Amino acid sequence: MSDKTLAKDAIKEKYAAERAKRLRSDGNEQYVRLEGEFENYAKDPHLPVCERSPVKDHVTVALVGAGFSGLVVGAQLKQAGISDIRLIDKGGDVGGTWYWNRFPGARCDTAAMIYLPLLEETGYMPSEKYVRGPEIFNHCLRIARHFGLYRKALFHTEVTSIEWQTEREVWRIRTSRDDDFTAKYVAMGTGPLHVAKLPGIPGIETFKGKSFHTSRWEYDFTGGDEFGDPKKRLADKRVAVIGTGATGVQCIPPLAAASKSLFVFQRTPSSVDQRNNQKIDPDWFQSVSTPGWQKRWMDNFVENMGGGIPSEDLIDDGWTEISRRVRKKILGKTPLWVARAVSRIGKTLNRSPSGRNPERLRAAFEDADIEKMDEIRARVDSVVQDEQTAENLKAWYPQLCKRPCFSDEYLPAFNSPNTTLVDTGGKGVEQITETGLIANGRLYEVDCIIYASGFEYGANFQLKSGFDLVGRNGQKLSEHWGEGLRTLHGLQMHGFPNAFMIQMNQAANMASNIPHNIVDHAATVAQIVSHAETNGFSSVEPTREAEAEWVELILTNPGSMIGSTDCTPGFWNNEGQGWSKEFKQAQGHPGGAAGFFQHMEAWRTAGDFKGLLFHAAKNHEAASEKPELVS
Ligand code: NDP
Repeated sequence: MSDKTLAKDAIKEKYAAERAKRLRSDGNEQYVRLEGEFENYAKDPHLPVCERSPVKDHVTVALVGAGFSGLVVGAQLKQAGISDIRLIDKGGDVGGTWYWNRFPGARCDTAAMIYLPLLEETGYMPSEKYVRGPEIFNHCLRIARHFGLYRKALFHTEVTSIEWQTEREVWRIRTSRDDDFTAKYVAMGTGPLHVAKLPGIPGIETFKGKSFHTSRWEYDFTGGDEFGDPKKRLADKRVAVIGTGATGVQCIPPLAAASKSLFVFQRTPSSVDQRNNQKIDPDWFQSVSTPGWQKRWMDNFVENMGGGIPSEDLIDDGWTEISRRVRKKILGKTPLWVARAVSRIGKTLNRSPSGRNPERLRAAFEDADIEKMDEIRARVDSVVQDEQTAENLKAWYPQLCKRPCFSDEYLPAFNSPNTTLVDTGGKGVEQITETGLIANGRLYEVDCIIYASGFEYGANFQLKSGFDLVGRNGQKLSEHWGEGLRTLHGLQMHGFPNAFMIQMNQAANMASNIPHNIVDHAATVAQIVSHAETNGFSSVEPTREAEAEWVELILTNPGSMIGSTDCTPGFWNNEGQGWSKEFKQAQGHPGGAAGFFQHMEAWRTAGDFKGLLFHAAKNHEAASEKPELVS
């Protein structure tokens, strides 16, 4: 056995040992929801709730969720000539994730050129390669204003029920503000990660100091603001942060700078690569932003993240580097032009390029990943002065086991004398008392606990949205999805006419650029609704057969290397509990994001709406027996 193989085996053993330390039998049950005695954690600290009268009217389209999904679908519908649109959101404005998450240091890890949707349409140039939260939130406001989406919007409003009215062929929508209105079409853009969760640490309810979740940041308490003003009110406070995921990595540096003392409670270290942010030069931006530029950039990112051998990498960041390394390993010394030619022929013949059998791909991925993670661990040593702290900050798992993080400020924060990393050896905080937290058997007394403990994740729509969709004949979506997700294109369900789900499952499933998923779904929604309206159809839904075929196709997906069950536990791999059937059925297109986007582009271009039924009849029940298929 070569030294290299031995070293690789030793690393894999270390990975397995670290995973074992973190594995717990309660999986997702370890967290608590922000309800009952914890409901105060869910309150909106950003805007007061305004009084208003309940709404009782009819709109053409109701969009549940005014984050990127609602905004982009609304914008594309407006562009397609559908103007009677209502956004509904539990937040006090549009923005979704970026309305709620105003924690200091918030920034997006995906390049703004592809992350901020509708840049071309709104004529906006991002200020930096990776922009801050407030700039993203502002862009959401820009989209809403640009496309006139505020007019009928309802904020601080939670949908409580959506039911299909067979007689009138409309959806009846009721809300927490006593609204009771109808809509011909509904689209749900409720987001993959919007229900904040707290760690179910014994005694969590007993803490007498201040505590809040990062998605409900209380600047009244900390001082400062999300634009970077110093959090002066923390200067005499002892602060604890629980959680070192993408949020913790971003809010810890400003907290280290502002607090009297900061204790960072770590269960699993994140992999933290360099950020390397740059300002965007207006001259450069002008030179690249020729018509159609944003789609080209989004497509280029997908190509670089996926199967092909792209001729250029427009984004050139930590995400595309992962694929670049794997590609380099597979190709070895093969000249690039030969590989590209083989790839092109492979595509023409519909075969995978350059001998990429799954074993070869997996081995190349493993080798490239071990090299990368060695670099990331070495970076910790080169930045963090205290040897033990550096050791504890090293991530021992493949990079895509947990969400990769990118920051130039996180590791240096641990060189501040007021900042202490409390590594819990994978066990987490043991207990919370009236005055502080117990970890490794020691009490840390603090004035404030900040929970950077993440969000609920999974395919359970009803739990995440707080309502069930009740379709034709009283069928509930929770029943339709009782044995796993069933959709056509991840977007529409048989028996739920005129309803659209804007989400990633059974679709592109691309976590590295969620807006691309949304932009693509929005284009499909706009085309379908516009066709139905232009031709006077009363409803549209997928056939049972088309839906079943799509699910079958999804189940042929062998599974991605992201969030493998061998990974250290986290929300990407169902807390290490193995994949339930529901999870397997919620994965993406077997051709990856590229495969899905290509399929949808071809589907839209064909224009025959394959798999959909457009109903002309007034009486829908009769129509469902003998549908009039118009395409
Ligand atoms: P995560 O779920 O990624 O992280 C939660 C953190 O809380 C983990 O470190 C977890 O530890 C820790 N934790 C949970 N319970 C305990 C406990 N009992 N004791 C100690 N620690 C505990 O949530 P985030 O909010 O960080 O990120 C969620 C997602 O939001 C990201 O994956 C990303 O998609 C998105 N995001 C993107 C950002 C960006 O673009 N830069 C910024 C912020 C968020 P463990 O790992 O052991 O489970």
